Amino acid sequence: MPARAARPSSPLASEFALIRSLQRHYARADRDIVRGIGDDTAVLRCSSANQLLITTDLLAEGVHFDLRSSSLEDIGYRAAMANLSDIAAMGGIPRFLLVALAIPSTCSGAQIRRLYRGMMQAATPHRVRLIGGDTSSSRQGLFLSITLTGTARPGRALLRSGASAGDFLYVTGTIGDSHAGLSLLGAHGSLRQTLRQSDVRFLLRRHHRPTARVAEGQWLASHSLASSAIDLSDGLSGDVRHICEESGVGVAVQATALPVSPACRAFARAAGLVPEEVALTGGEDYELLFTVPRGKHARFKRLAAGTAFRFTCIGEMTTMREGLRLHASTGERLPLPALSYEHFSRPSTT
Ligand code: ADP
Ligand code: MG
Repeated sequence: MPARAARPSSPLASEFALIRSLQRHYARADRDIVRGIGDDTAVLRCSSANQLLITTDLLAEGVHFDLRSSSLEDIGYRAAMANLSDIAAMGGIPRFLLVALAIPSTCSGAQIRRLYRGMMQAATPHRVRLIGGDTSSSRQGLFLSITLTGTARPGRALLRSGASAGDFLYVTGTIGDSHAGLSLLGAHGSLRQTLRQSDVRFLLRRHHRPTARVAEGQWLASHSLASSAIDLSDGLSGDVRHICEESGVGVAVQATALPVSPACRAFARAAGLVPEEVALTGGEDYELLFTVPRGKHARFKRLAAGTAFRFTCIGEMTTMREGLRLHASTGERLPLPALSYEHFSRPSTT
């Protein structure tokens, strides 16, 4: 879960270092733990028919949400979707929800009811039921922690660790929209007057009401088509790194292949940004990033053609030695983390 207000100087490196060190110190072999720290959810042995998936996220006022620019319904909805998205990234079926709250004295009962209304609007269509939680007071700000369980067929959960060199890299939907929406609520607020109102509405909705790709994840898992998967919470450039690290591979991302919506493109042009950079670095899209082995590619394409899902091939996995690369539209091959504005060719219309 990204620290959204702090994104430009977000302490991601140290967050990942902390998780790595927790993994090193506390990960223990246990016959019931199929996957512990290090994936979108933990995977636990449960029965011969099912494995248990479990994930938790903590949202803090002022870090992950701002009550001045988001309604409590939207905050609840987005929080539940973030958890649903982690279950989606495993190809699982979401089941049960626990919600822990620390509530400041400034919050009214009506506000908390609105928060739950938003959470349940996201959860109920997936037949996810609220089964418990915890409630506390808070000296400063609202805290919301959601735990979501799910199930997966044994051996079918999509892990971050299964990618091989040569696999194709795919993403669902379009990317960058949520970040564009967030920018329209903050630093680029003035662009709300200059952009088409339908684009503004689309981007704000993509930010406030993201869609977890639960059906896509289940489809990939049920057909055993993906060798690895992750959901995009921190942004593609950061999240693809987790697949590379866990799988021991490199990646070559094609900048021109990134699926960017017309609204996000319009936003980027108006803001003086490069659309592909917004798509690579913007977080909280909750799209799925996954890899398809070469040997399954023809079957994947044939089966995908029979669905309404939007899948875009954006590159391929390489060897670890080749590292993480971005093939820019200029033809340059850049290290993926060293993204900079100049390295993308600007659209000819700007
Ligand atoms: P996501 O963005 O998919 O929610 P995170 O980056 O938050 O994933 O977490 C990555 C992995 O690290 C997960 O397996 C998560 O359970 C684990 N993790 C994160 N924070 C902690 C923590 N404070 N203690 C133990 N494990 C953690
Ligand atoms: Mg995730």
